[in-house]
Amino acid sequence: MGDAQLMRYARHILLDELGIEGQERLLAARVLILGAGGLGSPAALYLAAAGVGQLLLVDDDAVELSNLQRQILHTMAGLGRPKAESGRDALLAINPDIQVRALVERLDEARLRELTAQVDLVLDCSDNFATRHAINRACVANRVPLVSGAAIKFSGQISVYDLRDDASPCYHCLFPEADDIEELRCATTGVLGPLVGMVGSVQAAEAIKLITGMGEPLVGRLLSVDALRMQWHTIRFKRDPECPVCARRAPAAAGCSGD
Ligand SMILES: [Zn+2]
Repeated sequence: MGDAQLMRYARHILLDELGIEGQERLLAARVLILGAGGLGSPAALYLAAAGVGQLLLVDDDAVELSNLQRQILHTMAGLGRPKAESGRDALLAINPDIQVRALVERLDEARLRELTAQVDLVLDCSDNFATRHAINRACVANRVPLVSGAAIKFSGQISVYDLRDDASPCYHCLFPEADDIEELRCATTGVLGPLVGMVGSVQAAEAIKLITGMGEPLVGRLLSVDALRMQWHTIRFKRDPECPVCARRAPAAAGCSGD
């Protein structure tokens, strides 16, 4: 690390739990952020500012005026531009030290598997169940930790699925896929702007913890916030031994004793 980096990351390096070693892990980390909207904005901004060395920012939408109420990665100058590119420019303006790849794509299952295999960590900042389940399947297949966030109206949820660990539940263990599930979308129901900031910021904090190995990640815990009453709750949950997605996950690549 050079002098400018020591200066830039000084307030993280000062933390005993993080230190120089943790900062070096951040600089070496590759993170995939799926969605450059309400959740992806604060998550990507904090990870870029923290010096996460390589960010892949994926979104196939363009910036619209109705996004600017909460998607703080984008500005008036970005209207009509792809969110991934507008976001990349904002992140590099804060921290030109890092590499940011903007992917203006809607990812199918094969592409999700390909991209999750290239990173250390995935942030699900998407906005629908089908995508969440597809991301989960790709992370299970590649045994990549997944930090999942969701927000609608005044309610937010965050959890971490550390799929490197056989004991960790996956997203499907907690939210089984169902055809008849009624999906609320921000476009039709609304969402409080700062709520997505709260949830996306928790996702960034969990990502930094997983990369540096400090603290206790939100594994097997679902953290929920009700912003109207400003109450936070934690629910504990376990891996579903019958889960069709993770029950037959591939054995760990290295160091597995077998059972
Ligand atoms: Zn599962």
